Amino acid sequence: MSDLTYKIIVGLEIHVQLNTRTKMFCGCALSFGEEANSRVCPVCLGLPGALPVMNEQAVENAILAAMALNCEIASFTKWDRKGYYYPDLPKNYQISQYDLPLGGPGYIEIPLDGGKTKRVRIRRAHLEEDAGKNLHTSGYHSQVDLNRAGTPLLEIVTEPDLNSPEQVRALAVELQRIVRYLGVSEADMQKGHMRFEPNVNLVIERGGQQFKTPIAEVKNLNSFRALERSVAYEARRQLDDFLETGRTMQMGNKSTRGWDDVNEVTVLQREKEEAHDYRYFPDPDLVPVTPSEPWLAKIRSRLCELPVQREVRYVQEYGLSAYDAGVLTADRSTADFFEEAVKLGASAKRVCNLLTQLGLKLAKDRNSDLAGLGLDPAGVADLAKMIEAGTISASAGNTILTAMVETGKKPDALAEELNLIQKSDVGELERILDQVLAENEASVTEITTGGKKAQKARGYLMGQVMQKTKGQANPKIVADLLSKKLGS
Ligand code: ZN
Ligand code: MN
Repeated sequence: MSDLTYKIIVGLEIHVQLNTRTKMFCGCALSFGEEANSRVCPVCLGLPGALPVMNEQAVENAILAAMALNCEIASFTKWDRKGYYYPDLPKNYQISQYDLPLGGPGYIEIPLDGGKTKRVRIRRAHLEEDAGKNLHTSGYHSQVDLNRAGTPLLEIVTEPDLNSPEQVRALAVELQRIVRYLGVSEADMQKGHMRFEPNVNLVIERGGQQFKTPIAEVKNLNSFRALERSVAYEARRQLDDFLETGRTMQMGNKSTRGWDDVNEVTVLQREKEEAHDYRYFPDPDLVPVTPSEPWLAKIRSRLCELPVQREVRYVQEYGLSAYDAGVLTADRSTADFFEEAVKLGASAKRVCNLLTQLGLKLAKDRNSDLAGLGLDPAGVADLAKMIEAGTISASAGNTILTAMVETGKKPDALAEELNLIQKSDVGELERILDQVLAENEASVTEITTGGKKAQKARGYLMGQVMQKTKGQANPKIVADLLSKKLGS
């Protein structure tokens, strides 16, 4: 038993709702939280004779996302019907893409600890329609809300390149950043905009032999936490099952499991259906899509620097910590704000501190982003420069940033108004320091004789200068003067 080692193998399927104005194949508006069945029409209700029309914006956004995932874009892609017999999709089929997806193969770079990245291969990316929602909330019957039915859904399938629950989570978080940067999805987990289905198994080495456990697919996870924990749970469960039964992967013993969020366990749902169970066939109501070069070029022009690239660049170019770089690049508006301030000549580290230590907290408290606070990059850049120049202290900088949000005034005006400008006049500070030295001979002696309390005495004298200047002395200048007079 002691020679047993194992490796976790995970491939991930992700469904991302695209934030188009209307549904995938009809003109119904996409809007969350409306009265049940108020956003439906003959097409998404699946009424006989209703004909679907492809939403061009959805296809463009799906192709853009696929491009960001380094996917090859198909020159010919088509729509297929996938058999689906549940009340939340009343046509009895889902329009999807089977053998000719719009994108793939490709890859995604995910950030790992210590500023490293890992490349995970993408098998395919295709577009389909979402189902409605079955509601089991009242007594002896169920209800269905079809507002969501027909929402454009981008399905992304990775190769089984992920080897830990943390990596699986990192990929999910990275994908959320990417689709948000591109503006193709709000990717709000609370609203079910992203759903995950990890396929998990183990490769076990024991006594020079290799064993593979049967693959389990965990369905429909809608939080990063559930995703990470379900993978960790599956790894433990499969190892236990192997040790107990010796069961290994055979043809067709893949299973589907659900996640019990309360007990944090996966529960067997069914043994796996095969692709032929879905009875895919080409949809006769929709024409295939053959993207032209000019159209693809137009879509490609919307690509931007990806968040993971920015994160790495912030560490290398600005010398920020990996942690700070991650915080600043978490969303595009913050990263853009930061870079604009730096472009205006402010120190990256100062701007970073102002934003990560205070700005983002103020934004979060007000359920907003930095721009929503009324801040602009020029104002924050000016503030950072004032700190850098010693005009104000770093802590006064925080006071002023808060006041900028509250009053909308400029930082230099606030520094005057709030009396926060540091005294940096060397002559004046020297005069005050001389007075303090004359009044505190005991402390001076302590320092000049190098006594045990020299450090403490130094602090005391600094404090006296601060008191005489009402906290406005530039501490660096005072410390320099003190060293010059009494030796360091
Ligand atoms: Zn409709
Ligand atoms: Mn799907």
